[in-house]
Amino acid sequence: MLTDAPPRKANRAGFLESDRIRTLDVPDGGTLPVTAKAIDSAMKSAKSTDVRLACAMFLNAASEFYKVPTCGIRVLAARPLRVRESWSTELFGDYDPETMLIRVWMRTAVRKEVTSVGTFLSTLCHEFCHHLDFQRFGFHDSWHTRGFYERTAGLYHHVRGTPPKRLFWVPVRGGGGRWRIDWPRTNRSS
Ligand SMILES: [Zn+2]
Repeated sequence: MLTDAPPRKANRAGFLESDRIRTLDVPDGGTLPVTAKAIDSAMKSAKSTDVRLACAMFLNAASEFYKVPTCGIRVLAARPLRVRESWSTELFGDYDPETMLIRVWMRTAVRKEVTSVGTFLSTLCHEFCHHLDFQRFGFHDSWHTRGFYERTAGLYHHVRGTPPKRLFWVPVRGGGGRWRIDWPRTNRSS
């Protein structure tokens, strides 16, 4: 995980705020974990219509909890190698703030293997957090800040029922204000 570099002038305040907000409230009940299990079962059946329905249940429940408009979902087979994208780090999904549509790919482009459920759910949480940046936090852009990754991780661990990890960051040398996860330290502490 690598953060974006801070923008120079425009939107800098939004970027810093995104970086600062490290936690995200999660629902008390098990609605999201239950829908995540439905996604898992649907992926095992490998039917993209079932996966789409389960994802839509998940996103409806999450949008209701965060009091944001529901985002659309499209589940696609293999990701085309050339696809226009707004964020360069996205491998398995993307989000369009104009149409509020999340697209996720069930298979990797090169080997055509089904994405693991962990990767798939982590992608879904990641794209949904882009949606929250615009619709809940009112940012004018959605950056990959330390806060963004930590909010995403909090949501992911909630839906999977796994204990959240504390993430440790180190500045990227010569990276213009970018950070990356210090994995040895992060793994040691959990
Ligand atoms: Zn992203």
